Amino acid sequence: MNELSELKDKLLTTAKILQCELHDMWGHVSAKTPDGERFLLAMLRPPADSEAPVDDALEFDMSGRLLSGGRNVPDEIHFHLAPYKHRKNVGAVIHCHPPIALSVVSTGRKIIPIYQLAAHFGKGIPISSWMYGTIRSHGDRAVRLMGESCALMIKGHGAVVIGEDIEEACINTMRMERGAKMMLYAATLGKPAPVPPGVGKVLGAIYPPPGNDKQQGKRLRSIGHKIEFQYYERLVKKGEKWSTI
Ligand SMILES: [Zn+2]
Repeated sequence: MNELSELKDKLLTTAKILQCELHDMWGHVSAKTPDGERFLLAMLRPPADSEAPVDDALEFDMSGRLLSGGRNVPDEIHFHLAPYKHRKNVGAVIHCHPPIALSVVSTGRKIIPIYQLAAHFGKGIPISSWMYGTIRSHGDRAVRLMGESCALMIKGHGAVVIGEDIEEACINTMRMERGAKMMLYAATLGKPAPVPPGVGKVLGAIYPPPGNDKQQGKRLRSIGHKIEFQYYERLVKKGEKWSTI
């Protein structure tokens, strides 16, 4: 498998993982090609057109011009274009509608890291008022409001989640939704508390990312995401489906 086919395979796998994790057919996942000049995008839902290939990914240039692909372009393309445009270290973007995370932020509360694998959420995932990714300025605003975080929750709509690669963006999305669920569990007994602020740095020092990575210690980094992604990738390849509700 060449690098491009491998990337396409990872995107389609991510879409299948998120179908199970989020129980939602809306949303899309994208990742930059190895040359950094294009990106591939796969949707969580199968194509409406029964003639279109189910396992296809769309290919875009960085201005959003469709280069190849056999299905309709998603409406909310600016939630993908803007992070690639404004953040150099972004290699992958996910736009989705995580139901439990949306429930938490509807109360005005941020999703905070109540377990160590979410420590890179820092003081909590930022929240914005309603926006829609068809509108260019909303894409730009989403990146601005995200700041140094790995995600933005958009009230009444969904989330934009980023990563340096598609594995990281996928695991960031899963940890955000699972973290939101843990908050709901915790809230039935008391007030959910975040992990101490130094936990992310300690874990980042114990498990540094490979190479001379300037993002080390920054909140974008997700500890152990490759291993976690591989676990779910194997389930998908075996044809397994699961539920986290
Ligand atoms: Zn949406």
